[in-house]
This record gives sequence, C-alpha cells and structure tokens, in this order.
Amino acid sequence: MQKNYVLGFPRIGEKRELKKVLEKYWSKQIGFEEVKYVAEQLKKRHWNYQKKAKIDFISSNDFSYYDNMLDTTILLGAIPKRFEKLKDEEQYFSMARGNDKALAMEMTKWFNTNYHYIVPEISKETTFKLNSKKVINEYKEAKELGIKTKINLIGPITYLGLSKSIDNSDTFSHINKVVEIYKELLLEISNLDEEIVVQFDEPLFVKDLDSKILSLIKPTYDQLTSIAKNIKLVVSTYFEHSNEATKNFVNTPIWALGLDFIYGRKNLNCLNLIKDSNKVLIAGVIDGRNIWKSNFEEKKSLLEEIAKVIKKENIIISTSSSLLHVPFTLNYEEKLDEQIKSWLAFACEKLNELSLLSKQFFNLDLSLEEKSAIQKNIEDNNKRKTSTKIHNNKIQEELKNLKVLQRADKFEDRIKAQRDYFKYDYLATTTIGSFPQTKEIRENRKNYKASLISKEEYEKEIKKYIDDCISFQEEIGLDVLVHGEPERNDMVEYFGEMLDGFAFTKNAWVQSYGSRCVKPPLIYGDVNRENPMTVNWTKYAQSKTSKTVKGMLTGPVTILNWSFVRDDMPRSEVAKQIALGICKEVDDLQNAEIKMIQVDEAAFKEGYPLRKENIAEYEKWAVDNFKLSISCAKSNTQIHTHMCYSQFNDIIKTIEAMDADVISIETARSGNKLLKIFKEVAYKQEIGPGIYDIHSPRVPSIEEMVKQIEALVEVLPKEQLWINPDCGLKTRNWPEVKQSLRNMVKAVQIIKEKT
Ligand code: GLN
Ligand code: ZN
Repeated sequence: MQKNYVLGFPRIGEKRELKKVLEKYWSKQIGFEEVKYVAEQLKKRHWNYQKKAKIDFISSNDFSYYDNMLDTTILLGAIPKRFEKLKDEEQYFSMARGNDKALAMEMTKWFNTNYHYIVPEISKETTFKLNSKKVINEYKEAKELGIKTKINLIGPITYLGLSKSIDNSDTFSHINKVVEIYKELLLEISNLDEEIVVQFDEPLFVKDLDSKILSLIKPTYDQLTSIAKNIKLVVSTYFEHSNEATKNFVNTPIWALGLDFIYGRKNLNCLNLIKDSNKVLIAGVIDGRNIWKSNFEEKKSLLEEIAKVIKKENIIISTSSSLLHVPFTLNYEEKLDEQIKSWLAFACEKLNELSLLSKQFFNLDLSLEEKSAIQKNIEDNNKRKTSTKIHNNKIQEELKNLKVLQRADKFEDRIKAQRDYFKYDYLATTTIGSFPQTKEIRENRKNYKASLISKEEYEKEIKKYIDDCISFQEEIGLDVLVHGEPERNDMVEYFGEMLDGFAFTKNAWVQSYGSRCVKPPLIYGDVNRENPMTVNWTKYAQSKTSKTVKGMLTGPVTILNWSFVRDDMPRSEVAKQIALGICKEVDDLQNAEIKMIQVDEAAFKEGYPLRKENIAEYEKWAVDNFKLSISCAKSNTQIHTHMCYSQFNDIIKTIEAMDADVISIETARSGNKLLKIFKEVAYKQEIGPGIYDIHSPRVPSIEEMVKQIEALVEVLPKEQLWINPDCGLKTRNWPEVKQSLRNMVKAVQIIKEKT
C-alpha cells in the first residue's frame, strides 16, 4: 500500500553545493562537467534521503540547475528569439542571467513565496517543440539507483498563465499546441515503465481566475489522460484552496488530486465532490512552507476529518507543497538552543514526520523506536506550549493596555509643523539608507563576530565609515543625509538580533532564485525590544553634520514577511509585538533629536494573500501595525517609509492609509507611469520616486536625470516630491555611487535654476 507522498524536494544542497559549483562555473574557474557531477551527487543524495525515510512517492524532475519554469520553457522549445543561436548550457544560463549578447529573461516571485522563477516570454509567433530529454533522463537516473520515481511537471495551464505576453496577445491561445507537446512527452514517458505516476503542478488555480481559464481544465486534462493507459495522472495545487478548479478536475479522468490543507483549509469544502468522483486525494498536511515540528495530534484529527468523507484507501498523505521552501536539515545547527531546536523540523525531518504520520494514520505496525518517536513529538509540542522562552507576560500586558494606536494629529497639520522645523525646499534630495558595503566593512563584521577583534576596534571602523559617508554627502550637497548602514548585514537580521523572541540558524538556507539563497530568522517567542537598536549610530552620524540625518528602521510587516514566523499565534499578533518594539525605537530616536525617521516596508506588498477574499483582513492588520509602529512620533517628527518595486496599482489608497509623511518608492525603470497612478487617486502625502535604477553599474548622466525629474514634475507638484535613487546602494561600489549621486544633485540644481 502506498501511503505517503512528497510534492518536491529542495535541490540547492544542504551545504549549498549547487550554489557553489554554479558560481565557480559562471566565473569560469571550472567547466560544466563539474557542475553536472555535483548535480548527480545531489540528486542521488536527495532520493536516498527520501527512500531511507520510507517515502512512497519520490519525485524526479524536481531538480533544476536554475529554475523549473525555465526548464519547462526549454522542454517546450519556447525559446525567445534572442537566445535561438545559443546552445545547451550557454543558452540555458543566458536565458536565466543574460550575457553581453542578450538580456536575461524577467524573473518574478513564485506566488507568495520568496522563490523566483524565470518568466516565459510568449508572443503570437512563439513556436513549440519537444526540446529536452531532461525529464526522461532524470527518471532513468533514479531508476538505475533502484528508485522508481513519479515525474514532476509544471502543468500547461499554469505555464501559460504565468507567462508574459510580449505582444499583448493571449498566452492561452497556445494551449492546444502546448498540450500536443505534453502528449508527445507523455507518450515517451509511458514507454519507460509498466506504470508511471506523473504529477502536474497547477498552482495557478489557487488564484481568483475568470471562468475562461477554468474552462480549459476539462479539454486539457481529457487530452492529457487519453494518451497512455499506464500513466496515472496527479494534479496538484498549493498555497491556497483551489475549490473552483476542483469542481472541474473531478470531471476529468485524472487519477488523483493533490491539495494543500495547511494554507488552503477551505479545500475541505470540496471533499464530497472528490469522494463522489472516486478520485484519490493527496492530502497536504505537513507544512511545506514553515519550519515547526508538526503536532501529530492536530495532524491526526485533521486527517480523521478528511477520512469522515473520503475512505482511507483513497487517501495519501503528503507535504502541503514542495519542500523547496524550507531548509534542508537540522544536522548542522550545533549552536542553536537545544530547546528551540526540539520544536523544529526542516525538509529531512519532515520526511520522517510524513512517514511516521502515515504509518500511524493507516494503522500499520509501528516499531518500538517509531512509537517512542511519536511519543516524543507529543512531548516536544506540549513543552513548547508551556515554555517560558516563548511567553513574555510584560509584553503581553503592555499590548493589552495599549491606548495610543496611531499618530495624534492629521497629516495636513503635521506636514506644516515639519516644514517649519526642517525648512527643506521642494525637490529635497536624499537616499534610501544604505551606502556601499565594502570588503573592509564585511571583514570588520566577520572578524568581530569571530572575536578576532575587540568591540573598540570594530566600532572604530564603523565610525570611520560613517565619517566618510557623511562628509561625502555634505560635499555633494544632498539635503537629507543617512549614516549608510555599515553596521548592518541585513535589514531584518540586524533588528532580529537585538529583539527577544528571534533565533538565528547557521545553515537554514532556502533558495530564492538561481544560486541565491536566503537565511530567514525564526520568530519563536514573544517579541520584546529591551534596549535601543539604532540610536547610538544615528546620533553619532548626526553629531558629524549640521544637516538633517534620517534615522533608518525596518518596519514590522517587513520583519514579519522575511522571517519564519511562529505558528502558535496569528501573524497579525506577532506583527503587533514587533510594531511595539519599533515604536519604542522611534520614540528613543526622536528624544535623541533624530527627528526624521524612515521605517522601511520593503516587503509590504509581498505579504499580500493570493485570494481577494483575504486581502481586506491583511491590509487591515498590516496598516494598523505600521501605524502603531510610528504612533509615538510627534508632529514635527517626520516619518518616511519605503517600498521596493512591485505592483502598486491597487494599493495606493492602502499606502496612504499607513499615514507616513513621505514615501520613497523604487520606480526608475517605469519612468513616471507609477506616479500617474498616485496622482489619479489624489494621493496626499509626499513622495520620493526613485529617479535612477541602481541595479546596473551604469552611471546615469545629468541630462538623463534632468529629463526624468521633468517627467515627474509634470505629474505632481514639485512641492510634493523628493528626489532620490532607487533602493539598494549597498550592492554597488563607491565610484559608481559617488558619480551617480553627484549627477543626481546637479540635475536637481539645473531644474531649480530653470524654474
Ligand atoms: N534602507 C534599505 C537600503 O537602502 C532599504 C532596502 C530595501 O529597500 N530593500 O538598503
Ligand atoms: Zn527597496
């Protein structure tokens, strides 16, 4: 009896082996053979982990050198023209990363995760052909190792739905051609073995879709199931419910439906339909997105609820999504607090959970060892509930008794007080906070963390950096200065390290895109800010200049969205605790005469729910908590916020409701288009649109920036505008930054002389 199922496994390697070998290859230190060799070792290791954990359904084709969507573009032969002349790995990696001949394809977020995929480019002219042996080869590779896999594919509807049209044509107009290619592939697959399971990922269906797209399900899957009798076809969705799609899928001859019951609990509403259609249900009950140890008692009752409708022999237990979104293993976390560690499960530990849970649920014989593992799970979860580490009564009381939840006076009144106090001119110039993180700065931090240098030596370096940074900004004539963030490795980690309730791992890397990984902090307990976090450095910077220095904080929603968050409390409550901490910092800053403070919400948009039905609730608590974080700011304390490039169109009024005095936005690549949307809704607060793209080493000319500014003042009155670059100066080097900012300030001068 086959009873448990893993949707997909991470591939970067538990020591980021794939990242390292790829980067060596890209920098031409080694050839592609070496990359291939490491890839083979990784695949083998990951298959064996799953086999050892007694996983019944193990995937092939979940590996990728860069990204699965890109692999699918190659598979379907939908190569954009500019890469046509290139071959093999040169073609593959130039599509992902660009080269001197061809611009890279666009990259964007995979649903609401921090994983990014390469966006297929489709036009009327796009042609398709079966163009890769990867799927077949990977299956054979596993089989040679004695592992019979199920094959993972991105479903045709999701593929086209996530593609971008470069000529405004409907990407779905290609559905028939794409289905033909998949049929050809399925035919090849059917020759591989007597019986094969093929998983089509169709997460597109967790979004709100119009009926036209839903109506593609039946014809598409009738076709795909018609090709070979020995293929069992699974369709899986994840990250939300997909009830509208389920209603259609039950009328197709697919074998099984994989649904997420963690982030899509409403999938429970469709159990009867699934039962009536006699389909197998692959029930995603082990969290593929978070890192907490499963609570077996809760999981069991969820499964029992499902089993009230669907008979047990039609249930397979699985992860809620691919495990791509969690780190590999707890094995290397020697430094992590033992108690906290006992509450965690990363990908490898989740395999064991899945296997144990399925044995228990299906009443299979448990060994003594397995019985005690289940017992330990229950104990660990109980201990977590009552742990003093998690609960901070002082903070809970403080939050309960909070009276002030937002700033006392209206923007219209505040801004007058602020203009009086700061006396800044129209088109005031500033930056978004960071300045280049030099090699010296990074080494200084590393040496200090490794106790190789004293605190004094470390701080001396930081001060030197701030001195230089301030004097450069003064010299070129910026209006509002920043200290440059040399003491910060990362805008969330820096604050997390100073707040109670956060833990940091040594090795919990998660793939973000290509070879890039992130290591999010864990929020395990009540968040408390005991001491000032930024006051000294900001004060130091201010002591070096008579101009205004803007303090720099990360906002509560962004800290939350870039962490693994505890699952025993609503996210809104965790955000509230963080907000209270940030609020205390704002107050200490203003009391130290730092009266202009930026609270970055770089990841505000990122946290939006996938379904419209949940948006209002998110917006409410996200806005409320931001407002709480700045609630103590006095009238003449000016609060800035910042957001990175994203789809702002629908949320401008929400941004306005956050009640900051000034927002800077990353927008250089879109000219003044975005600003027009702000104008359309009569946005009232001040805005600093990024006037040049910092993601490129190119130094923008003065003339170019004059033009850009002219385009901006055409849209909004100059009194409402600030002038700044896009965010992320920390990723550039000093010569580029210096020249670019000099040009930016000169451009503003030219504009002012003209008027
Ligand atoms: N203050 C941060 C910086 O300038 C903001 C980073 C961001 O927007 N992602 O780097
Ligand atoms: Zn940004």
